[in-house]
Amino acid sequence: MNQLSLAIDLSRCIGCKTCVAACRNYHGLTDHASDMPGKMPYYLRVESRREGSFPNLKLESWVVPCQHCNNAPCVKACKSGSISKDEQTGIVRIDQGKCQGSGDCLKACPYGVIQFDAARNKAHKCDMCWDLVHGGQKPVCAQVCLTDAIRFGEKQLLRMELKAEGKEILKRMSAQSVLYYRDSV
Ligand code: SF4
Ligand code: SF4
Repeated sequence: MNQLSLAIDLSRCIGCKTCVAACRNYHGLTDHASDMPGKMPYYLRVESRREGSFPNLKLESWVVPCQHCNNAPCVKACKSGSISKDEQTGIVRIDQGKCQGSGDCLKACPYGVIQFDAARNKAHKCDMCWDLVHGGQKPVCAQVCLTDAIRFGEKQLLRMELKAEGKEILKRMSAQSVLYYRDSV
């Protein structure tokens, strides 16, 4: 399997949420009433961390999509067999036709990235823009990022590219199929 991956650059991400908005538009996550009643659904979220103290403050931001885990806990938790990890690409997907809305996957996901549509009684989440990727394009988030903070490709190739450029791959954050990195100091 050639695991497909996103590589997120903490040195470039400015937390602007352009990728979040574009992802919502592309996947039609715009209906507050049916997508996640009372909440705006998302397939990726922005997190940030502030380091140091004034006047030497540093703010790092990054985005968190589904991590397309190696041994995905959501796959194991789903009793209806709706979630699978694609053998060719490593993308983890939820089959909307099979999902019975038990919500077991939401509890099992350690990254809190699965959304629930109460109106349709279905779980849904990032599928790395499966249709776009199979049409030879990048996922929407990687296409629209204003600062080019998101790269897309095969994980091993991305890793080699980052190493060749002398980037620091953040091992703890990159424990699954998404890579996080920053400029080396
Ligand atoms: S991050 Fe959550 S939803 Fe994505 S594969 Fe891992 S357990 Fe499943
Ligand atoms: S669009 Fe790029 S810079 Fe803005 S939040 Fe997303 S990853 Fe970060």
